[in-house]
Amino acid sequence: MKPALATLMNVFALAIPGLIWACLTPLAQAAEERPVLPLLSAEQITGGCATTIADLRRRVKALEQMPAASARDPNLLFAEWDALQIAQEDFQGPMDLLGNVSPDKQVRDAVEPCKVEFSKFSSDLFQSEKLYRLFKAVKVNDPVDRKLKRDVLWAFEDTGVSLPAKKRARMKAILTRLEELSVEFSRNIRDNNQRQVFTPDEVKGLPPEYLAKARRDDKGNYLLGFAYPEYLPFMDNADDAAARQRYQFAFNNRGTPKNLVILKKAIALRQEMAGLFGLTSYADFIIRRRMAGSPAAVNKFLAEVRVAVTASEKAEIEELRSFRADVSKQPLAGTVINRWDVGYWQNKLKKARFDLNPDELRKYFPADAAIAWILHISGMQYGVEFQRADVPLWHPEVQYYDVIDAKTKQRISGIYLDLFPRDGKFSHAAAAGARNVSTAIGRTPFTVLMANFNRDGFDDDEMRTLTHEFGHVLHGVLSKTRYAAQAGYNVEWDFAEAPSQMYEEWALNLDTLTLLARFCKSPCPAVDAALVGKMTAMHNYGRGIRYAGQLLLASFDMAIHSAKPQDPIATWIRMQSATPLGYVKGTQFPGTFEHMLGGYGAAYYGYMWSEVLALDMLSAFGGKLINPEIGGRYLDKILSRGGERTGMEMVRDFLGREPNSQAFFAEIAGKRLK
Ligand SMILES: [Zn+2]
Repeated sequence: MKPALATLMNVFALAIPGLIWACLTPLAQAAEERPVLPLLSAEQITGGCATTIADLRRRVKALEQMPAASARDPNLLFAEWDALQIAQEDFQGPMDLLGNVSPDKQVRDAVEPCKVEFSKFSSDLFQSEKLYRLFKAVKVNDPVDRKLKRDVLWAFEDTGVSLPAKKRARMKAILTRLEELSVEFSRNIRDNNQRQVFTPDEVKGLPPEYLAKARRDDKGNYLLGFAYPEYLPFMDNADDAAARQRYQFAFNNRGTPKNLVILKKAIALRQEMAGLFGLTSYADFIIRRRMAGSPAAVNKFLAEVRVAVTASEKAEIEELRSFRADVSKQPLAGTVINRWDVGYWQNKLKKARFDLNPDELRKYFPADAAIAWILHISGMQYGVEFQRADVPLWHPEVQYYDVIDAKTKQRISGIYLDLFPRDGKFSHAAAAGARNVSTAIGRTPFTVLMANFNRDGFDDDEMRTLTHEFGHVLHGVLSKTRYAAQAGYNVEWDFAEAPSQMYEEWALNLDTLTLLARFCKSPCPAVDAALVGKMTAMHNYGRGIRYAGQLLLASFDMAIHSAKPQDPIATWIRMQSATPLGYVKGTQFPGTFEHMLGGYGAAYYGYMWSEVLALDMLSAFGGKLINPEIGGRYLDKILSRGGERTGMEMVRDFLGREPNSQAFFAEIAGKRLK
């Protein structure tokens, strides 16, 4: 599971994070000095929060008083709007980021109340009737301005500006409450430092390197936490089924039962919110602004996915059951596969069938070399260079690079890489566009990649996560949009994952992977066609179970945000019980499902929806992935345009035809189109 970007955004995804001067002159400005992320202390966050918001409110007042005649000129109106949005982003971007990555708990704690204050500010801003009227009246002349105007008007309307006063006040209260709930939900998971205790017997099967690093108590027991590099290898390798069951149970109860209560409240508030607008469901409220357009379109798509995966999921589980019976020399009749067995037996089957241990891959992909490699291939593809530079960092393991135009040698943006786990840090993998580009004022962006990789080298999954998140990073730092609000992945939510999902393919390709060895400090074994063949076979294996899992999450999300939302845990138990692996009694997964509070409510389907577009776009590369020519076109038509056009317009333009789902359904069926 890879939540990508939503976590750092407002609950209200359409609220515009930063807009900029609709400037007139094509720019040949000198590059600005390198902007860096300010390392705010807890006091600076608390104090800065109040002063920044006071300043923003003053700006709003001034903007509301703009004479109607001036405001009809987008260059004037958008200029003022720009200054406002930039001022907000300059504080909020770093603050949100530090709330997820700061090693100082006081800093993380200081961020939480401020996030709620910003949410209040945003709903006040987007409920300003005066501003709404100005934006309605502005005369736009070109497509970029027209799209911006539409997006801004939607943001106003979806915050309730056109509602009667009483409903508008209620809407404001709901948005604030939802932000508070989101903050609490994340905190309950992030700050859960509980460790599971396992005896030396219970950790049999785990690689010696894993055990050497694990924390121990004075009795020699292992103390394991919830970071992926601790949890996932255990589920894949520990021979003791009861130990895996116990660990998985704890993992699926992080943040619960408190988070179940929070989720239930959030769902009720969202349903009420939709009602204020005369809509029947929160899914309606959200999806009408997305590529999919309506819950009906999403449900139709999910039904097609169901048809495509149901049989293969069952077949894969049956296969695992036979495999387990064979290996354990026990009768098939009494052999079962439980949820905590899937990863373990899949891992064993893969090793037997594909003659490849995923842990063995780490020696091919040492962490340093994998980072140098992703920078190298991205640079070749998109005509940029990455140069390490010394800037203030929030933790010694973080790295910063300037992104330089390879032709002009001009610095165009920056990236921060915060790749390894530590206590209290955001626990998934995500890219945060902490600062957005605006060509109109020569503002250069930076994006932060946060992950929790294994320091000893990456396996195939981590390589895919690296390329996936880097796909988001490139979207952020190679955008050349006029307005910050349209920069990077400020696109429809169900298109946002397409560039990142497409880039995953670069982690499974001979041409790209053979380049990695040149970055190894001490020689790594060479990646050859046989190895990539095995990795591909391994990746293709298990797709029934994988897509069925995604389908379950997306269907659950649609169900709890439907016109008749039910209790989330009851819904989950009902839906998971209907799957071949069933429901594990006592687990409370919805309480750990951060996407639901982090911007992916009624939006989880977007991962698969985006994948349809990702695989369709991938087909344009014709299997040749080191491809500056198609890469250049992709940069030009998709990455650099951010949200200046709709996803559909951009994909159509890039492909030169209507997009379709053939490549996606072929992928699910394991029959990739040539
Ligand atoms: Zn993503």
